[in-house]
Amino acid sequence: MKSFRGLVRQSTLVLIAGLILIFTILVYWGFDTLLHQYVDSRLFALAETLGRLIQQRPDLVLLLDEDLLSREEGVVRNEEESRQLREAAHSVRLLSPDGRMVWKGSEVVSRPPMELAALEQVRRGETVYDTVQAWDASPIRRVSFPILFQGDLRYILQAEASLLFSQKTLTGLSLLLMIVSVGVLAMAWVSSGWLARKVLGPIRILSATAATISEPDARKRFVLDAPYEEFQQLTHAFNAMMDRLQMSRESQGYFVDYAAHEMQTPLTVLQANLEVTLNKARTIEEYRDALINNLEHVERLVTLTRELLTLTRLAGDRTPVRRALLDLQSLLQELIDELRVLAEDRQIGLSLQVEPTPLVLGDAQWLKQAVINLLDNAIRYTPPGGEVTVRLRATNEWVAVSVEDTGPGIESQHLPYLFERFYRADFARARDCGGTGLGLPIVKGIADAHSGTITLETEVGKGSIFTLLLPADKNPSPSIR
Ligand code: ADP
Repeated sequence: MKSFRGLVRQSTLVLIAGLILIFTILVYWGFDTLLHQYVDSRLFALAETLGRLIQQRPDLVLLLDEDLLSREEGVVRNEEESRQLREAAHSVRLLSPDGRMVWKGSEVVSRPPMELAALEQVRRGETVYDTVQAWDASPIRRVSFPILFQGDLRYILQAEASLLFSQKTLTGLSLLLMIVSVGVLAMAWVSSGWLARKVLGPIRILSATAATISEPDARKRFVLDAPYEEFQQLTHAFNAMMDRLQMSRESQGYFVDYAAHEMQTPLTVLQANLEVTLNKARTIEEYRDALINNLEHVERLVTLTRELLTLTRLAGDRTPVRRALLDLQSLLQELIDELRVLAEDRQIGLSLQVEPTPLVLGDAQWLKQAVINLLDNAIRYTPPGGEVTVRLRATNEWVAVSVEDTGPGIESQHLPYLFERFYRADFARARDCGGTGLGLPIVKGIADAHSGTITLETEVGKGSIFTLLLPADKNPSPSIR
């Protein structure tokens, strides 16, 4: 597995090496340019001065070529001055416009001739620079400067300077840059290692603490004495996660406790009934009565198990809800028809009121289950002669299904816990009515799985309204009924 420390070190090294490379190239290129500019400007100054001198005193130039000499007729030459010029301009030569050498300083050595294109440029009056190699392969910088007489090119003056010094300077600079780069890279390697150790220290402490926390001491929390905000946040996040895990573990424990307790009662009663029944010989009628009596407890166990399974499915990692576009009006109508007999049996009026609503994205089976739970409660807890009304309407981006009853209502102290598992507002009455305390948690689970909510308005003595809010389909116009 890759180590974070290695990654930090490598990344830092690559970054610094990249920066150093760019810096080195820029410095080298800058120095090279400056040195060339310096040599060129000095060569130009020399060529310009000599050119002006030759223009003013052409007699100083004792031409090598006799043809050219004959063209200088009438010029009286000063031999001494001419010799002095030859020595002062020791590395300078004069070429005729066609490129032949016609005059040279005292120390001029032979050099490769100018390229034709460069010669053409000088003929056009431009100053041309080129770099040639001396016999010992050292680089020589050369300037070719046009000397005009009355607008016509008379001579091409060539002055040169060795680039050996520049070359040595650049070699020295490269060496220096190399040493500095290696030093900086070594420092980057060491300091990135130190930084990585510093960063990883608190993380190592956290992981060591995490490794020591086991189930029995789940109340233990991370303590980190790091002065950095980010590590404090990390510690808080870890501790918050531990809190949540502990809460979920505890609630899981309570849930199992409650479930076992809920099952224990009917099972104990069943066992006692069966023992009493089997105590002595009984008539067929007595056995029949005992079985009928026990059937009630079995039914209760079946309901409890079914609801527990439903809750477990809803709370699982993979939601069992499969959503599709749904028309709630027909779904509600079906339910009302199914439950009408039960309501009539309990002398409760059951009605449906619908307004035009958009379709919803939902799972018909699960939504049916949610509305059945609400209707079942409303019918069970409403006294005979009461009314239960189901309403369907649209509110903003929601479709609301309300189950309204004229029952006893629920006291306010119960409201915060009503959707918790096994909670019953009036325990005795709920038990008598066959309630398990799981109906409303199932409704909430179904609402959550549909990205919806369940709300309650209630008034003691007047009744309750449970409203299931489901998100309306985003494209309501074609589906409005
Ligand atoms: P149960 O199976 O006991 O009805 P629920 O989770 O469905 O469990 O409901 C929790 C409690 O909320 C019930 O025990 C009851 O006290 C109260 N309750 C639910 N619906 C109504 C209602 N329509 N009218 C009055 N009380 C209600």
